[in-house]
Amino acid sequence: MKFRGIVLVCGMAGFFSFASGVTLTGRVVDTSSPANPISNVGICFENLDTASYTDTLGRFSITLSPTDVVRNVVFQKQSLRVFGTDLSFTSVGSEIVRVDLYDMAGRKTATLLNKTFEAGSHTISLPALMQKKTASGLYMVKVRKGDESLSGTFMSMGVHGGTFSDNSPAAGVMGKFALAKTAAVVDSLVVRRFAYVTKSLPITSYVTQDFGDIAISKTAAEIAIQKKVDSLLALMSTTQKIGQMVMARKNQLTNAQLTSIGVGSIFNGGSDPEGNNTPSAWSTSIDGWQNAVLSSTLKIPMLYGQDCVHGVGSIAGCTVFPHNIGLGCSHDTALVSKMGQIVASEATACGIRLNFAPCVSSVRNERWGRTYEGYGETPEINSLMGAAYVRGLQGFGDMTQTWAVSASVKHYIGDGGTQNGVNEGNTVLSIPTMRAIHYPQYLACAREGMGTVMPSYSQWTHDNTTWYESVDSYAMTTMLKNQAGFDGFCVSDWDALPEACGDYGTSCVAQSINAGMDQAMIVSSASVTQYMNSLQTQITGGAIPMTRINDAVSRILRVKFRMNLWGHPLTDATLRSQINSSANRAVARQAVRESLVLLQNTGNVLPLKTSDKVVVVGPYANDMGAQCGGWTISWQGQTGAGPGIAGTTIFAGLQTAGGAANVTYSSNGTAITGADKIVCVVGESPYAEGSGDVTVPNFSAVPNYSLIQTCVSSGKPVILVMLTGRPMLLTSPATSCQAIVAAWLPGGEGEGIADVLYGGNYNFTGTLTHTWPATAGQIPINAGPTYSDEPHGSGGAPMFAYGFGLKY
Ligand code: BGC
Repeated sequence: MKFRGIVLVCGMAGFFSFASGVTLTGRVVDTSSPANPISNVGICFENLDTASYTDTLGRFSITLSPTDVVRNVVFQKQSLRVFGTDLSFTSVGSEIVRVDLYDMAGRKTATLLNKTFEAGSHTISLPALMQKKTASGLYMVKVRKGDESLSGTFMSMGVHGGTFSDNSPAAGVMGKFALAKTAAVVDSLVVRRFAYVTKSLPITSYVTQDFGDIAISKTAAEIAIQKKVDSLLALMSTTQKIGQMVMARKNQLTNAQLTSIGVGSIFNGGSDPEGNNTPSAWSTSIDGWQNAVLSSTLKIPMLYGQDCVHGVGSIAGCTVFPHNIGLGCSHDTALVSKMGQIVASEATACGIRLNFAPCVSSVRNERWGRTYEGYGETPEINSLMGAAYVRGLQGFGDMTQTWAVSASVKHYIGDGGTQNGVNEGNTVLSIPTMRAIHYPQYLACAREGMGTVMPSYSQWTHDNTTWYESVDSYAMTTMLKNQAGFDGFCVSDWDALPEACGDYGTSCVAQSINAGMDQAMIVSSASVTQYMNSLQTQITGGAIPMTRINDAVSRILRVKFRMNLWGHPLTDATLRSQINSSANRAVARQAVRESLVLLQNTGNVLPLKTSDKVVVVGPYANDMGAQCGGWTISWQGQTGAGPGIAGTTIFAGLQTAGGAANVTYSSNGTAITGADKIVCVVGESPYAEGSGDVTVPNFSAVPNYSLIQTCVSSGKPVILVMLTGRPMLLTSPATSCQAIVAAWLPGGEGEGIADVLYGGNYNFTGTLTHTWPATAGQIPINAGPTYSDEPHGSGGAPMFAYGFGLKY
């Protein structure tokens, strides 16, 4: 599979072509210290769509190959998508598609297309349309199909095409795609790095050339932030610095202790409800703790952290999105950025300013109970989606937005590669293989300026040594901070230090901090005291150098200044009104639609017709907890209505779409005789972390599985909707169902499933981001290059390949 991560920084991607290849080289250095090369800097062309990144020595080398243009999906709105240079869409019947061109004053200058398209999938070459009608210059272009539209700015480069960039950032659509262009046009080499001023270097002719040292400087805002960090640090005592390195669990420290310590962060775990678990109860509590911290001598605001992994799932009434495995199948980065923005604004409205998400695990073994928390099995999908989520969460590059939160990208590194998929287990891989499979997503998120990273509980064995990731200096300091250029802070997982190396009262603290941990997530008040005492002793005794402490605290302060936490340390109550608003729910519903993958559709049993008599079977068809999965209200999640999960069940959604007269419910499948078609909803019960690990992911082992046989035995056509956190082995009677839909863990908006099953306005667009095994012996089975040191199953054809997904 082609690596697609290059879309992330440049907002465009692909390969430009020349009759003969040319190579461009150079080295990127920091203006203030030209001897310092900068790694992980994005290099791309303004109009040519080719991208690369600097290596650990700041060098880049781009060879423009003599193949033709290949580009990636950048835009999608509803069924309109731009795939590279092509506009693609699906018509459900006879539908008119218009493409209009406007000048920048808003006057229409040309209609490029106005044509009726019959039902089916269509693709139109945009350059071919544009070339005929445009002179050089800047235009607005609008694409319309029914009530769907996609609009953007088109920079025409004369008859050879140009660039098209979206102009609706409010809709969360980011990026830009380039149209065809010839080598005759002068271009620019664009050098981009988070916190640095973007530099454009003109290219006068496309010949092999070396740009030498390219110096880039920090933005004025970043320089100002660094000055603030330095001056605050200079005022701090060692004890105050230690306070910043503490992340204490809520309600473990008294307000007086919060004040005297001046804690850096406070957090709660997945099963720590607050009061009556409403947004206002949470913000009142969090503001109370913040006020206590703000009463400390230096008044440095704390960052409040929680796992808002698929929405603010633990707080009643917030919008619940699909889990990452489903979002990955959408391949829709704009959607995931928009989701990030919504999650951030709902979190902020509750007082939360740090989100322990996204989880970007390349999940290589479906036995792992956290499979659903990653976007898929490849680094490519996790890079694209993880960076998109960070982008939205962190204010589209501006963390000072009052609604923005800092991401905590997790679990670094190799959490999804443990042997046999064991949670918190050991990932045995050489350094090059680990870098290839589990590292690119952190490079991509670093380019988005991720605020924090959570090192993994898991271990990494390479070169005959096993390292717990909480004490792994090579992973945290060399790879992440020095090579990926990560300048935020590492926060440990829940009491991960003692798990890695002993307890908070020992040299374990020095091991972890010296390896690169900056803040420890500590569960009990006694442990906070032990940790702080150990830090003090180990600093005094010289086991931890003051330079390391200053670096850790600078990183923590840098993130806080980037967020302008001082400017708005308390909850902005005005944000609360948009929690679970219809606009937010609409985005979650879109996410459900796009996450669904159609695996089987024998005899075109789908789409449903509104005239069909449909019986919906299965208790999970009418169960908010089951459709949301783990990390919803409680850590492990739960079945049942759930105490306050906002949304609509799958059955309710289907009934709204098909009408109460035609869509009925038979939980146990006893009332199906009058049905034209049966929708049978069956799947896994909610779980999180270790309790989700299984030896064999057999779908036949899920609760209520026998209902499938009941439905199939009726002789009626059966549509099986699977609620699962992973691909699972499918056998008869599941495989005897006419249609099979992988719905994953769709979250609160059950109507999204009805939208697609009825197919009036929507088709399936999701495709698998996991290889779906046919047998247990095939696991692990993964797409992409084969690595000799990675475990493999027996091989052979999977049941469904990576990228599989049917449409109507
Ligand atoms: C999990 C993390 C989570 C943390 C805080 C840990 O058990 O591994 O993913 O962020 O708890 O809830």
